[in-house]
Amino acid sequence: MKKTSGFIAITAIAALFAGCAGNDNKTTGTTAADTGLAADIKQHIAVLANDSLLGRKPFTKGEDKTIAYIAAEFKKLDLEPGNNGSYFQEVPLVEITSAAQDLQIKGASSAVLKPGTDFVASTRREVDTLSLKNSPLVFAGFGVVAPEYGWNDYKNLDVKGKTVIVLVNDPGFKAEKKLFKGDTMSYYGRWTYKYEEAARQGAAGVLIVHQTEPASYGWQVIQNSFTGSKLYLQQADKHMNRCKVEGWISEDAAKKLLSAAGITGDMRAYARKEGFKAVALNSTASLALQNKLKYSKSHNVIATLKGTERPDETILYTAHWDHFGIGKPDAKGDSIYNGAIDNASGVAAILAVAKKFTQQKEKPKRSIVFLAVTAEEQGLLGSEYYATHPVYPLNKTVANLNIDALSDFGETSNFSITGKGQNDLDDYVIALTKPKGWDVVGDETPGSGSYYRSDHFNFAKVGVPALDLHNGSKSIQRGEEFGKEKAKEYNEQHYHQPSDEYSDAMDTKGMAQTANLMYQLGVKLSNETTFPGWKKGSEFKAMAN
Ligand SMILES: [Zn+2]
Repeated sequence: MKKTSGFIAITAIAALFAGCAGNDNKTTGTTAADTGLAADIKQHIAVLANDSLLGRKPFTKGEDKTIAYIAAEFKKLDLEPGNNGSYFQEVPLVEITSAAQDLQIKGASSAVLKPGTDFVASTRREVDTLSLKNSPLVFAGFGVVAPEYGWNDYKNLDVKGKTVIVLVNDPGFKAEKKLFKGDTMSYYGRWTYKYEEAARQGAAGVLIVHQTEPASYGWQVIQNSFTGSKLYLQQADKHMNRCKVEGWISEDAAKKLLSAAGITGDMRAYARKEGFKAVALNSTASLALQNKLKYSKSHNVIATLKGTERPDETILYTAHWDHFGIGKPDAKGDSIYNGAIDNASGVAAILAVAKKFTQQKEKPKRSIVFLAVTAEEQGLLGSEYYATHPVYPLNKTVANLNIDALSDFGETSNFSITGKGQNDLDDYVIALTKPKGWDVVGDETPGSGSYYRSDHFNFAKVGVPALDLHNGSKSIQRGEEFGKEKAKEYNEQHYHQPSDEYSDAMDTKGMAQTANLMYQLGVKLSNETTFPGWKKGSEFKAMAN
């Protein structure tokens, strides 16, 4: 008994010392730096998630207030405006609302498919109306062309004017032998990739077969997310290089089409078979779409701390400032989607990191750029705009360090890298955490393709090594079960709901740990002359060259 209380006293003194001297304390993980960061982060979240910012939706008064706050904070820190004298980068967007008629199938199979129930369809093409007329249907397996895996579902296939039916996820998911990355989804498994590849192949239409397990979400999510209005970046060619029609088809409707062409049983197993060749379904699709178009501009906010020796080389911090604005009220009648964790926490963290950089005695040798991007919730659009219209050259962008939705249950002794194994930044994180006795883990749900679902992905796509870091679930104070419980509670009860809001009870010390790791990582990179690269086997390695 005595011994125990003695131990507690020593720990308390050590913690106290850590607080004063700024030394790490292995028992609690707290440092003086973290304590300052935790307070800064909390204060920024309180502002950004306040009801007066109206849920931070692009094109609303909430946007004006949000971007004004972030720019003012950058200015307070004496950071230079990051975009040729301005703290803002305009992001031109187009909102397309597509209304689909029935999908008429004729030929070997004959059916009238209903929008919403049997299929969903939209278009990126900025035109008032468009249609598919008797477009031949082809089953193109997973719709994947992946030379590094020796895989090509479009081999010797001419899909001009045709509509391809493709499977969700990649061949590796739940396969008997290891294909691709096994159950961990590669980019070839994402629906965005399927649309992009079908367009590259010149198909007129693309329909992804929905299956709940490999998609990681039910048909309900397809109905909610792929109907109604969608935002896209404005494009010079008005997206005429994309398929006319992009969409999803229910598993039942797809089964009927395939079985009429002789494909029965497990369609995934069929498409995984060696020597698989795309199959003409001997049926055609006809569909008309009516579009409503609306053009508007949102904004990224950007600031720079110039490097002393290699100012043209940059370390790029990102966090999305946007959320869902005002929407459907919850059971308590709250209709403001404040997004305290998603992603006021990330913006707060990069503001706190920026402050630490400005307080450094020695200025970084490479430039540090802080970019708060818009419209992540609408499909990672602000980051896509920056990655395709970079202010600082991408080939001299050393790394992208992204922060999205940090948890508020306090300090942890493990950290999670989304898509761990992609690039050398993992090793930097491990080198920083190891001395403290902290572990680094990968995604907690590798099948859901998290690496492709936040802003860092747009930088990976253009070859910039990108890192997305979170606290893991091992709560230092209350153990792993508690952390897991908290993560689950957030996902089920608060994620993308009005209750993701600020409270004084939020424990931001874990957020401060992640912010501090990201800060130290940036410091290290800013003083190096080398460029981290992609690991062998990463699908982004080829894109970097
Ligand atoms: Zn979100």
